[in-house]
Amino acid sequence: MTDTKKILLLPGDGIGPEVTNATRKVMDWFQKTGRTSFEVSEDLLGGCAYDKHGTPMTPDTLKRALAADAVLMGSIGGPKWDNLPFKDRPERGLLGLRKGMNVFANLRPAPVFDALVNSSTLKPEVVQGLDIMIVRELMGGVYFGDPRGIETLPNGERRGTNTQVYTTSEIHRVARVAFELARKRGNKLCSVEKANVMESGVLWREEVTKLHAAEYSDVQLSHMYADNCAMQLVRYPKQFDVIVTDNLFGDILSDLASMLTGSLGMLPSASLGPVEASGRQAALYEPIHGSAPDIAGKGIANPLAMILSFAMMLRYSFNMAANADLLEKTVQNVLTAGVRTADIAEKGKPTVSTDAMGDAVLKELTKLAG
Ligand code: NAD
Repeated sequence: MTDTKKILLLPGDGIGPEVTNATRKVMDWFQKTGRTSFEVSEDLLGGCAYDKHGTPMTPDTLKRALAADAVLMGSIGGPKWDNLPFKDRPERGLLGLRKGMNVFANLRPAPVFDALVNSSTLKPEVVQGLDIMIVRELMGGVYFGDPRGIETLPNGERRGTNTQVYTTSEIHRVARVAFELARKRGNKLCSVEKANVMESGVLWREEVTKLHAAEYSDVQLSHMYADNCAMQLVRYPKQFDVIVTDNLFGDILSDLASMLTGSLGMLPSASLGPVEASGRQAALYEPIHGSAPDIAGKGIANPLAMILSFAMMLRYSFNMAANADLLEKTVQNVLTAGVRTADIAEKGKPTVSTDAMGDAVLKELTKLAG
């Protein structure tokens, strides 16, 4: 038994509560079998928080997130809140949470499960065995840089401006996360920018190179322009192990990489903050999918992305690699046995509900744990 870890659970909107429900049962299994010791509390984020409190994230929710050892979120948003002013939209709640927690490194694994190799739009031989990790800088770059805005020029034309900006420390902290991850995986890191046309890209490349020489020369480092990386991800994705890139390129490339796997309902993510002197590190785990309003309330959403997000929490926040391995292996076995929610089923093949997928995971966990 380890120290009791505090987890804040934020089910959110749409299918969020449905996939959270299945995930909670998996969390409870780890508790009941004595493998972990968690204190789990729940709160509102997104549209449901707006409905109750008139804001998509209350200051108290942020306080609770900052006090937790890790936060696990379902999904937020939906048409019900689409016409609210920008500041009240569910997405502002999530952005505010990420900003408040200062989670600057977004980890998006894109593994292809053998049993789902035919779900990809690419040929099986291109994606079979694929296991990429994209590390995206999340708190800087063109989404946050000043100056920004839309202005009207003296000649009546309008001009929109955004500024791509990175400092040495912002580059080093995200590159460090990526180098450390590479060491635990295939020991290969590809740093991606547009140093051919952007000064911020030149700085990015120089600083990653310096950090590599100073602290990580054992890791195999390469550099690639973002446009080439997009092409290489589709041409020969298995050449990559860990990719590190900025906020804008990371946004696009991580979506591209996730689609190589062909299954949005399967993909987890983690967003990590700086490691404090005490060793504590803020961490937010969430499936990459949204609230799927088209299927919300039907009980057919795939809960595996959130269950795998919980596995990432076990691995990265709690250093429980054996438990994370057990859960990932369980998911693999369930898929190999042919259990499928509708999103990952082949046409005409039987499908199961969210709850039934959760139950299949619990059954296999019990079997594997002996
Ligand atoms: P989405 O990810 O919600 O849905 C895209 C498609 O994938 C839909 O057809 C949906 O049914 C399907 N899908 C997604 N997750 C699934 C799952 N677990 N199981 C089965 N099928 C699944 O993206 P969208 O439709 O563009 O956005 C819907 C809402 O979600 C919007 O309000 C958007 O702002 C929000 N959103 C939230 C997050 C988040 O919470 N992190 C991320 C993206 C979008």
